[in-house]
Amino acid sequence: MTNFDAKNPPKQELIDACVHCGFCLATCPSYRVIGKEMDSPRGRIYLMDAINKDEATIDTTTSQHFDSCLGCLACVTTCPSGVQYDQLIAATRPQIERNQPRSLADRSIRALIFNLFPYPNRLRILLPPLWLYQKSGLQQLVRNIGILKKFAPRLAAMEAILPSITSLAPQNNLPQVIPAQGEKRYRVGMILGCVQRLFFSPVNEATARVLTANGCEVVIPPTQGCCAALPAHQGQEAQAQALARQMIDSFIDKDLDAIIINAAGCGHTLKEYGHILADDPEYKQKAEEFASKVKDVQEFLAGIDLTAELHPLSSAELTLVYQDACHLLHGQKISLQPRQLLRKIPGVKLREPMDASLCCGSAGIYNMLQPETADELGRQKANNLINTGANAIASPNPGCSLQIKKHLELKGSDVTIFHPVELLDYSIQGKQI
Ligand code: SF4
Ligand code: SF4
Repeated sequence: MTNFDAKNPPKQELIDACVHCGFCLATCPSYRVIGKEMDSPRGRIYLMDAINKDEATIDTTTSQHFDSCLGCLACVTTCPSGVQYDQLIAATRPQIERNQPRSLADRSIRALIFNLFPYPNRLRILLPPLWLYQKSGLQQLVRNIGILKKFAPRLAAMEAILPSITSLAPQNNLPQVIPAQGEKRYRVGMILGCVQRLFFSPVNEATARVLTANGCEVVIPPTQGCCAALPAHQGQEAQAQALARQMIDSFIDKDLDAIIINAAGCGHTLKEYGHILADDPEYKQKAEEFASKVKDVQEFLAGIDLTAELHPLSSAELTLVYQDACHLLHGQKISLQPRQLLRKIPGVKLREPMDASLCCGSAGIYNMLQPETADELGRQKANNLINTGANAIASPNPGCSLQIKKHLELKGSDVTIFHPVELLDYSIQGKQI
């Protein structure tokens, strides 16, 4: 049991900005599911205050209330007093990692995740055994018996969102520089992601095609790794900083107008590099310059004149529902641009789900670490999306797509999920869905 250590504890002036009005409680997903004050933004801010003032300690009880936070940042959007909960929880998580020993089970699952997911070359090695696991029928057997769920619920949660492996060795077929089609208007960098490049490579290919079709020369440095979102969201400071430095080095001196990312969670972290490397004198300025160029692909496309012609995606009217990803909506304040782009596609009608701004429960690796709360949120999100009656779902984040797909399937729904940029790509190519 200890207090916050001296290395960047949550700032007292940010804590004091909270007037305890409670407006944020209604929009907090952990409070909605768990129903306890200490699992709400206000409760967590009370806890930070108490630990800062030596009235409480970091221990098993208090740390579990920080662990239960999804980091969705809905409270930041809601708070009328402008409380920077994002900065507060970002300062608290590394404190928990440094000062609160975790159980063996907790350490093991975290070690597996942090040593695997941010490294595409390690993930790639797993593809053949995973492919065999799925194709041999073993996956179905394991799920039917429910053996993992019984003995290792977090591993079961990880297994439940495993995407279908269609290729044993997905390659990044994208060259290092792709010329613009027609007149070159912009030169942009493109980030491939780690999970994205292995399990969602068609989204990366669609992103490159849509950008080049609209006059962008696309630069894809091969040395780029993971954006650092997974370790950053879990307070793994040193790992996040090392990955951020590698990413900056990959894109430096490339003379780019913008650095494009198509995954919401990664985009939010890339824009935070100035904070992540604030204490690094060598990288601080480079990190700020890098972050200032980062744009979500939808943010970028909505801000330029689209020159590629768009065609209908269906012979009849197509009803879509756009699923707000928290790290776009709350983290980057991007909600209009994706809707504006989708409405440009001829014949598309957009519907809005209930509780559009509520987290789906994915939240990076939250659905693997806190499967019960995540499952309840996933169920609610799937219901709300199905109830729109839309033909397809547009989802701008791979984690959200996997989480929602799992819960759609559990409900027997066959509504398909696309990344919005895939829909734009199909529309440019004149493909029907
Ligand atoms: S964080 Fe904001 S909304 Fe929530 S209790 Fe504090 S002041 Fe009110
Ligand atoms: S980040 Fe999300 S889960 Fe965490 S306190 Fe804020 S609203 Fe609740």
